[in-house]
Amino acid sequence: MDLGLKGKVAVVTGGSVGIGLAIAEGLAQEGVQLVLCARNAERLAEKAAGISATYGVKAIGVPTDVSKADDISHLVETTRREFGGVDILINNAGTGSEETIMTAPDERWQYYWDLHVMSAVRLTRGLVPFMRERGGGVILNNASICAAQPLWYEPIYNTTKAALVMLSKTMSTEFIKDNIRVNVVNPGLVLTPDWMKTATLLTADKDITPEQYLDNIAKENAPIGRFAAPEEIANLFVFLCSPRASYIVGSTYYIDGGWLKVIT
Ligand code: NDP
Repeated sequence: MDLGLKGKVAVVTGGSVGIGLAIAEGLAQEGVQLVLCARNAERLAEKAAGISATYGVKAIGVPTDVSKADDISHLVETTRREFGGVDILINNAGTGSEETIMTAPDERWQYYWDLHVMSAVRLTRGLVPFMRERGGGVILNNASICAAQPLWYEPIYNTTKAALVMLSKTMSTEFIKDNIRVNVVNPGLVLTPDWMKTATLLTADKDITPEQYLDNIAKENAPIGRFAAPEEIANLFVFLCSPRASYIVGSTYYIDGGWLKVIT
C-alpha cells in the first residue's frame, strides 16, 4: 500500500534508538526525509547516515536536548535552513523516572515537565508556521500507557505523560483549522536497548537471565504475554502520519498488547 508520504519532511525527536529510530526508519522506507535529534551526537550522526545509505533519503542528525529552549530554537532553524520547512513532527524523546513523591525535589519535576511537555509545546510553536505555509501537516506525540494506568514507582513520568495526552487533545483543536492533524500514541511494554540494559543489571547476581526477567514482566502485565518490538509501534505512527489517516484528529491510541485494564 502506498501511504502517500514520499518527499515529505519529518522531525523525529529521540530518533537515534528505540521507538524513535524505528519510526524514522519506517518513514524513510516511505520516502520521507528526516531531521533526527537526540543528545548523543555520535550515535545520532551514525544512525542518520545509516538511514540515508539504506533508504536513499536525505536524513540529518541535529544534536539537541529537547528539554532546553535554546536547543529547540537551533533545531527549528536548522530544519528551515536544510529543508525549507517540515510536514511531520514526532515528539518522541522521553524516558522513565523512578522516585517517590516524598523524596523527589522540585528540580526533578521541572526537568520532566520540560522534557515531556514543554519540548512538544516549543517544537510545535516553532514548526507549525512551516506546516501552515505548506497547507497542513501532522503532529504525533508519544506518551505512554502510564498516562492513564500509573506505575507507582514513577509518579513524575505518569503525571507528565498524562499532561502530554491532554496537550495533544488541546493542540488538535487549535490546529485542525490549519489542516494540521494532532494525535497521541500510548505504548505499553516495548523492547528497547534500555530495557535490555536494565534487565542485565538487575539479573547480574541472580539465577535468572535478562530474557527470562523480561519475559516474566511481560507475562505478568500484558495479556499478549510479550514485549512489542519497536517496529510494531512504529507501524502505527507511520500510518497516522499518512493521508490514509486523514479523518483521525485528537485521538489517543493504546498499543499495549491488552495491558490497559479499563475502557476509555
Ligand atoms: P530510548 O531510551 O530507547 O530512546 C530515547 C531516545 O530519546 C533516544 O534517542 C535518546 O537519545 C533521546 N532522548 C532522551 N532524552 C532526550 C533529551 N533530553 N533530548 C533529546 N533527546 C533525548 O526510549 P524508548 O524508545 O523506549 O522511548 C521513546 C518514547 O516512548 C519515550 O517518550 C518513552 O517515554 C515512550 N515509551 C516507551 C515505552 C517502552 O516500553 N520502551 C513504553 C511507553 C512509552 P539521547 O540519550 O542521545 O538523548
